[in-house]
Amino acid sequence: MDYMLQLREKGLKVTPSRLNVIKVLDSSHLAYSHSDLESLFSKMDRVTLYRILKDFEDAGIVHKIMDIDGVTRFAICKSTCPDGHHTDDHVHFNCKACHKMFCLEKVQVPHLKMPQGFKAMGLHTLIYGLCENCSGA
Ligand SMILES: [Zn+2]
Ligand SMILES: [Zn+2]
Ligand SMILES: [Zn+2]
Repeated sequence: MDYMLQLREKGLKVTPSRLNVIKVLDSSHLAYSHSDLESLFSKMDRVTLYRILKDFEDAGIVHKIMDIDGVTRFAICKSTCPDGHHTDDHVHFNCKACHKMFCLEKVQVPHLKMPQGFKAMGLHTLIYGLCENCSGA
């Protein structure tokens, strides 16, 4: 994927820090917390990192999910999400053993029937258990 082009298309200025963050997030199916990213980018200023994640979220490049401990995690949007409106309707899996969080892009969230007058705009589905490494399967 051409990250420079992706940033430009989203109207974001291309900076080395932004490119580094997008590269790391895009190269895995994992959702990272602030502290995970802080240790990965130990040389980066924390405020800069926070701002990058916020800009990416607003631009539809990353989506935010809360894990079972209530910690916010960030993962790359594999499909193109329109600005400010995320369409990542996949399931997230939180491993109780290694505490990693996975985007299961192939597992779509079920369609739930809403009562009259309720308009669903998104659904966060979090499944917890043991990942493929920890389940011994
Ligand atoms: Zn998204
Ligand atoms: Zn695990
Ligand atoms: Zn996800």
